[in-house]
Amino acid sequence: MQVVIIGAGISGLATAFLLQQEAAAKGRQLSLTVLEEEAQVGGKIRSMRSDEGYLCEWGPNGFLDGKPATLDLCRQLAVAEKLVRSNDNARRRFIYSEKRLHQVPENAVAFLRSGLLSASGKARMAGEIVIPARRGKSDESLADFCRRRLGKQALDRLVGPMVSGIFAGDPETMSLQSCFPRIHQLEVEYGGLFRAMLCLARQRRAERRSGQVVASASGPAGVLTSFSGGLQQLTDRLQQVLADQVQVSAAVTGLEPAGGKFNLQLADGRQLTADVVVSAVPAYNFASLVKGFDQQIATLLGQIPYSSLQVACFGYRRQRIAHNLNGFGYLVARPNTLPLLGTLWDSSIFPQRAPQDSVLLRSMLGGATQPEVGEWDRERVVDETRAALRQTMGIDVEPDFVQIFRHRQAIPQYLVGHGQRLQDLQQRSARYPGLFFTGNAFFGIGLNDCVSAAQRTVAAILAGDRSQHTE
Ligand SMILES: Cc1cc2nc3c(=O)[nH]c(=O)nc-3n(C[C@H](O)[C@H](O)[C@H](O)COP(=O)(O)OP(=O)(O)OC[C@H]3O[C@@H](n4cnc5c(N)ncnc54)[C@H](O)[C@@H]3O)c2cc1C
Repeated sequence: MQVVIIGAGISGLATAFLLQQEAAAKGRQLSLTVLEEEAQVGGKIRSMRSDEGYLCEWGPNGFLDGKPATLDLCRQLAVAEKLVRSNDNARRRFIYSEKRLHQVPENAVAFLRSGLLSASGKARMAGEIVIPARRGKSDESLADFCRRRLGKQALDRLVGPMVSGIFAGDPETMSLQSCFPRIHQLEVEYGGLFRAMLCLARQRRAERRSGQVVASASGPAGVLTSFSGGLQQLTDRLQQVLADQVQVSAAVTGLEPAGGKFNLQLADGRQLTADVVVSAVPAYNFASLVKGFDQQIATLLGQIPYSSLQVACFGYRRQRIAHNLNGFGYLVARPNTLPLLGTLWDSSIFPQRAPQDSVLLRSMLGGATQPEVGEWDRERVVDETRAALRQTMGIDVEPDFVQIFRHRQAIPQYLVGHGQRLQDLQQRSARYPGLFFTGNAFFGIGLNDCVSAAQRTVAAILAGDRSQHTE
């Protein structure tokens, strides 16, 4: 079987590696090629060590170890012993609201004491327990869900910032079911979020009493995990293991089904034929490849927009910053008059990110609600970041080190109706047996989601069964 995977981000590389492993275990013959348009693999994953000794992540900062997918992949690649976990004090997360940073409360007592929500905002949130469940099947925006169950303040000061932190997205347009399926499930299964928390806590107490090992269903999503040299160590290792099966500077410019196989056209003039093609590229790239033979798939893919982002990495000598930087960083509450979505205190999370006696702050600007920020030039991004850090953290000094990254199409937005769009895509692409798609545009944007989707894609390819590919 000849398999071509288009795109060598984490999704394409993980699919290639896991396919190779599974095929070998099953004694299946496989010819595998991964084609990547850029000169280096990794896609959104890129770690840059500056001459000054700062380690700046272009894209993701790490993955959460609360789900097994990426950890298992690291074990299979024999790099798990090189992983570093974020500092314990990185559990302290903050929200900038009403001109100051508030620590996100970690328990009920801290919640009651916190100034993040007003007394009426807290009372409205607590009233969630009596709000009847909405068990209909139709999708709902994150903002509508939150206003309905928890109130407007919780939306503005808790959920809204979280959505901009994860998706750089707008909660008014994003799908609850596709962005946070577990939360949707909790309402359906238990009748509400507080009811679910109480029920799950009761279950855990009963399990503890009976001596069972407790798996916390509603517990924290895990610890942020990376490598001392940054996440790129993972994709570099995948490239090393896949060796010459990966081709860089190899952009695919054309794709067409031909008699049960697929013909691929490359930018350098080469042509390839494959039995199986896996698209692991962003939705807009996949759309341009399929539009020549299936406009309907291209249209569906075109309905998955991307938010833009600018990432500003600022380094300072430690003694120049008065703030204690004791925590993970902060996100900005709605309504947000700043271009800033939030700032991660990178060197507090992973001390290896800054030279000794220095600190690294990484700010995200723009997102779905401020698309114009993605077009700003470097000077404007630096000025606006400095102004925002002055306002939010009282940092008035010039940074000793600056690195700016622009992502014009950073993160796919799962808009209301995303689940239906996926079903339509799945149904329509079933006309082309041997054509698979994976990647962060469909089944989750976190690295764990991308690796889990790669696992399902591999199972579906080897089973010759497209339906296993869907969630
Ligand atoms: C700023 C930022 C911060 C993030 N932070 C986190 C985080 O902390 N934790 C986390 O879990 N996730 C995070 N994410 C999300 C995560 O990084 C992505 O969802 C994930 O890396 C996407 O991987 P992918 O392989 O699906 O897509 P990509 O990384 O986009 O890879 C697609 C690849 O396809 C290639 N390609 C495109 N077209 C073609 C073509 N025609 N021919 C050949 N190759 C092509 C591209 O060059 C690219 O290499 C972050 C994302 C961003 C942007």
